[in-house]
Amino acid sequence: MTIACKFGGTSLADAAQFRKVAEIVRANPKRRAVVVSAPGKRHKQDPKITDILLSIHDMVSRELSPDPSFALLRERFLEIEKELGVDAGMAGLLKSFQISVLAGADRDWIASRGEHFSARIMAAFLGGTFVEPEGAVFINALGLVDDRTWTELPRRLPAEGIYVMPGFYGTGPQERVKTFSRGGSDISGSILARAAGVELYENWTDVSGLLMADPRIVTDASPMEVVTYRELRELAYSGANVFHEEAILPCKQASIPIRIANTNRPSDPGTLIVPEERAADRPIAGVAGRSGFCLLQIEKILMNKERGFGRRVLGILETNGVSYELSPSGIDSMCVVIDAEDFGPVEGVVLDEIRRSCEPDAIEVERDIALIATVGHGMSHRTGVASRLFGALADAKVNVRIIDQGASEISIIVGVASPDLSRGIQAIYDAFVRN
Ligand code: ASP
Repeated sequence: MTIACKFGGTSLADAAQFRKVAEIVRANPKRRAVVVSAPGKRHKQDPKITDILLSIHDMVSRELSPDPSFALLRERFLEIEKELGVDAGMAGLLKSFQISVLAGADRDWIASRGEHFSARIMAAFLGGTFVEPEGAVFINALGLVDDRTWTELPRRLPAEGIYVMPGFYGTGPQERVKTFSRGGSDISGSILARAAGVELYENWTDVSGLLMADPRIVTDASPMEVVTYRELRELAYSGANVFHEEAILPCKQASIPIRIANTNRPSDPGTLIVPEERAADRPIAGVAGRSGFCLLQIEKILMNKERGFGRRVLGILETNGVSYELSPSGIDSMCVVIDAEDFGPVEGVVLDEIRRSCEPDAIEVERDIALIATVGHGMSHRTGVASRLFGALADAKVNVRIIDQGASEISIIVGVASPDLSRGIQAIYDAFVRN
């Protein structure tokens, strides 16, 4: 069986990082399918190669000289090639790149060259085969992977030995080079994993896994050892800055687990993202939250006897372009949590329409609401989770405005006043992780 591994920009920032990557690949003979990003920052002020390429395009389109950026590009790639002691033909590739740019090459093609050159060097350094994603990875008009990929890409993959594919780009609808959104090499890695039918997709980056809570709030948050696709989706939706949804999809469709690992600390366990439920010893996988919501509270005596009340309220929100998150209801009241940004511009119209069509006794808007999601498969069929959660919030003096636990029992969502968001997350984390 094969392991696919993708290395991000910081893992390829210079020759020393290329060496670390090669060491990781060679450490396990199963690591045959490699995807690389363009070289990233070597230090805080350093530009990423992709940003240099985009500035080259910008300069040319404004009829300004791109020469300083060309020089930067050349310096970075030639230095990596030279320090690694390989011949990847970089001088020639850079020369013809410059000619194509000056002849009016597309923005996406220019942006994609960072990954292309990076993969050329890595293939030469590893003694592997270079796999060209153009004509093999197809990207539709929405920037998502097209199904043609699943027949074309597998045909390009060598049966033996290591192969290296550039991330970030493929062929777009006009049969020209097209890139994914920024950070898109993660998607390419997942695509190659599915096309090659691997047992594991390793995503090598500069952190030792995904954290159980936002480190800006819980400064010493631990990495998650294992998390399911579903838990991750709940956490991402609730504001966690985790692995990109589009980058999970191809692996999810093929039930391939994903491991997030650290190139600079390769023996750290990292985080394993798995398809199915785990036997959890901790009830929660993580906690995440975000602010930016309003609470629409509608009261009407005997609401419970009236048919279609909820449908009318939600219909009015829909026609005015307001998405809703949750809607806990009582006997004579209905509460809808909505996105404040959507709601702001249409607030007056929405309230008028609800008054007219539903004739409520009272309607009130509470602003500055944050939602906190505590997520974990381990919660289901386990007693005491809610009591621990609400006990922790009470001890931290966080007033809970709304509660929602879906039937799946995979998350408990609470609505709190925005200023209580951080305190709430910290309290929940402490209650479940530290105790
Ligand atoms: N190099 C591209 C970017 O900077 C894609 C990637 O690294 O994933 O966004």
